[in-house]
Amino acid sequence: MAKMYYNQDVNEAVLQGRKIAVIGYGSQGHAHAQNLKESGFDVIVGVRPGKSFAMAQEDGLQVYPVAEAAAAADVIMVLLPDERQTQVYNEEIKPALTAGKALVFAHGFNIHFGQIVPPADVDVFMVAPKGPGHLVRRTYESGAGVPALIAIHQDATGQAKDLALAYAKGVGAARAGVLETTFQEETETDLFGEQAVLCGGTTALVKAGFETLVEAGYQPEVAYFEVLHELKLIVDLMYEGGIENMRYSISDTAQWGDFVSGPRVITDDTKARMKEVLEDIQNGKFAKGWLLENQLGRPEYNAINRRESEHQIESVGRELRAMMPFVNEGKKIKKEVVAS
Ligand code: NDP
Ligand code: MG
Ligand code: MG
Repeated sequence: MAKMYYNQDVNEAVLQGRKIAVIGYGSQGHAHAQNLKESGFDVIVGVRPGKSFAMAQEDGLQVYPVAEAAAAADVIMVLLPDERQTQVYNEEIKPALTAGKALVFAHGFNIHFGQIVPPADVDVFMVAPKGPGHLVRRTYESGAGVPALIAIHQDATGQAKDLALAYAKGVGAARAGVLETTFQEETETDLFGEQAVLCGGTTALVKAGFETLVEAGYQPEVAYFEVLHELKLIVDLMYEGGIENMRYSISDTAQWGDFVSGPRVITDDTKARMKEVLEDIQNGKFAKGWLLENQLGRPEYNAINRRESEHQIESVGRELRAMMPFVNEGKKIKKEVVAS
């Protein structure tokens, strides 16, 4: 088994007395800044004037423009959207990167694909929580944590790994487990996971199932409950005890159907397509396309986003969920956290 680090394995003293600047106050930013502060670290927030700036101030944090925060800090955590990081780095962070400072990321995209090339005399490492930002905050508050990956890209001071572990402990991740990886492994597996399985694969599977039922003449509301609503209950069982736990809980009829029909839907051909997706991540084609799409102002992203929001599964779902306020709990909590 891979080496795991937990609270008792981490000496946070190395990070005490160093000023940490959390750059960005969005999903991850608000969680890191508040958790680190409550863990007793010296934290400031760097963000442009606007919504996030005001929000961080309301939350009782010291907030500065990005360049000022980067200049004042010893450890600079970049929690801006990946496609914005390079410009902000070049204009506002790079000038502040004097020898011995640490530059930190929560995802390896820009370092791995060579968009950001830091000077050799700074530490560059990653602390990547494996969960959405609002959960990083919510679990910390309840005494738990979201696991995280750490990785070292440059160790100029000889302390990069200790700093990464201390930071991970500060955001609460070492309560759940911290695992060392590389920027390459984190970037490629993270992109593959979200594209092939978690986001892309799942939405395509759910939509195809919904369309198959509706095209066969079944009621859209029945189809929605069957292939989307119930998915959460099935995934919760897998989360709690693996696939075997889910199969233990479903009927034998469902389990037999799982065995004989699952491989007819997700076939060897699907796996071959997954390998193509992985190759495009590994060879940089996906990254290039996404960077170009952003430079052009996202024409394709916006068009697909509009079309997707008009899909029948979304309109049916909006109506059904309006009648089930309890289903919206998670979303409400997220909104409260982001807005508080
Ligand atoms: P968000 O989109 O939530 O971050 C937005 C923040 O960045 C806002 O505070 C926004 O301020 C600020 N911002 C955007 N553009 C600029 C700019 N030009 N100058 C200054 N501030 C700016 O990002 P995430 O938290 O989703 O992602 C941050 C990093 O964490 C990424 O590397 C991502 O891959 C990684 N990550 C994210 C996860 C998640 O849960 N979302 C999970 C694990 C890793 P304003 O309000 O002014 O727009
Ligand atoms: Mg990701
Ligand atoms: Mg059923």
